[in-house]
Amino acid sequence: MSDCLFCKIASHEIDATIVYEDDYVMAFEDINPQLPVHTLIIPKQHYAHVGDDVPEEILGKVFAAVAKVAKIKGVEESGYRIVANTGEDGRQTVHHLHVHVLGGARMPIRMGPAD
Ligand code: 5GP
Ligand code: ZN
Repeated sequence: MSDCLFCKIASHEIDATIVYEDDYVMAFEDINPQLPVHTLIIPKQHYAHVGDDVPEEILGKVFAAVAKVAKIKGVEESGYRIVANTGEDGRQTVHHLHVHVLGGARMPIRMGPAD
C-alpha cells in the first residue's frame, strides 16, 4: 500500500526506532509514547486489521514478536499490556494491523466505554 504510513516504516522509507525486525514483522517505538514502554509491532505485509484475512502464520509471527519485544524492553517479568485498536469504535487511527506493547508502569484496571 503506497500511501500507508506503516508500510513505509516497514520498507524503511520512513525512519522509526526499530526494536526488533525479521522477515515477517517489525517492532518500533511509538512516536507518541503513552507509557515508559510503548512499542508497536506490525506485519511487514499490509493488512488493515486482524480481521483482514490475515494468514494464521502471520498472526503467529506477530504474537511471537510480542514475547521477543517484551524481553528486549525488559518487561517480560514485570508484565505489560498488548492492545490492538480495531476499527472505528476501537479508535484505530493507522489502518495497518499493529499491536501496542505497553509497560513500564502499572496499568489502569478500567477498560470500559468512553465517557
Ligand atoms: P492506533 O491509534 O491506530 O491504535 O495507533 C497508532 C499509533 O501509531 C499511535 O499510538 C501513534 O502515536 C503511532 N504513530 C503515528 N504515526 C507514527 C509515526 O510516524 N511513527 C511512529 N513510530 N509511530 C506513529
Ligand atoms: Zn500498510
